Amino acid sequence: MKIKAYAVQAPKEKLLPFSYEAGELLADEVEITISHCGICHSDLHLMDNDWGISKYPLVPGHEIIGEVSAVGTKVTLASIGQRVGLGWQCGACLRCEWCLQGQENLCQQHQATAVAHHGGFAEKVRAHERFVFTIPENLSSETAAPLLCAGITVYSPIKIYNVKPHMRIGIIGIGGLGHLALQFYRALGCEVTAFSTSPVKEKEAMELGANFFVDVQDSAFMKNYTSRYDFILSTTPGYLDIEHYLNLLRPNGKICIVGVAPPIKVSVGTLINGNKTICGSGIGDTQTIREMLDFAAKNNIAARIKTFPMSDANFACDAVRNNSVRYRAVLTR
Ligand code: NAP
Ligand code: ZN
Repeated sequence: MKIKAYAVQAPKEKLLPFSYEAGELLADEVEITISHCGICHSDLHLMDNDWGISKYPLVPGHEIIGEVSAVGTKVTLASIGQRVGLGWQCGACLRCEWCLQGQENLCQQHQATAVAHHGGFAEKVRAHERFVFTIPENLSSETAAPLLCAGITVYSPIKIYNVKPHMRIGIIGIGGLGHLALQFYRALGCEVTAFSTSPVKEKEAMELGANFFVDVQDSAFMKNYTSRYDFILSTTPGYLDIEHYLNLLRPNGKICIVGVAPPIKVSVGTLINGNKTICGSGIGDTQTIREMLDFAAKNNIAARIKTFPMSDANFACDAVRNNSVRYRAVLTR
């Protein structure tokens, strides 16, 4: 079966119409006919081969919602006609210690939707049934699509690093990930500060759940917020002034990096004084994805989106690059 899609043929090139032969559906695979696909900044990193892992032609897209249109002979977890979502991960070995513990995102043979095969800027996509999720009824498809990557990426650190409602939280970068983080951490009961390079986002950041908004380009900002935070989540793909943020942590505080920023340099004294931790987190496991979707449905958490027809994918990607989308671009078919 031929699948119509949009692909880049080489780094930094524009997306062009493209079709590929999908072959036979594997016994454990689900085929999704896509209705919506969010544009994550990771799609831009992949299109540009920023991480050296891209294979061309490359069909980006890993925040996918659609309807199950075919199932392999051994599939038991999905049925035709069901509304489902698929995120960054589409496969894993399912036998290693991490997969057996339900932490498939840590599997060494982890497969990514737009890397291992073609992604969601397309009419259809396929994935192992384990990575295909039912979407709660009260979530709309267009606002739920970004939950499949951005949502789980900011939610999972709550579980991994034991974030509690009494904590003071900082969120660096109020884009696709960051604007969902404001909502999740506020819904959890935390006090939340938005750290942004865009003062124009202040009003909306407060509406989304921030208690405080800090323009990081205002050099006086540091003084007021020193030693205040239990947990800071960095979503920025831009320069991360790690020393500044370590100084904003209380003793035992942690800064968790999820945004793929350029390399950081740290003086060890900043870590030693006050038992500070720098940690990272990659997407989330399948159980936590289900929990995150449920939490979003119960707490009315929804991405603020701008929709674009899939045929305008180049225009939409440029808008994400320019930081002009409030707050997630979602392609529709
Ligand atoms: P996005 O929608 O483009 O938002 C990024 C935000 O970071 C911007 O809105 C901006 O917020 C801030 N920013 C500051 N300096 C920037 C710069 N030089 N370039 C771009 N943004 C800058 O991106 P996203 O989809 O949220 O993704 C953010 C990062 O997370 C990317 O690196 C992506 O690859 C990564 N990611 C990681 C995982 C994981 O598993 N760890 C999963 C998904 C995405 P302000 O205007 O508020 O400053
Ligand atoms: Zn992503």
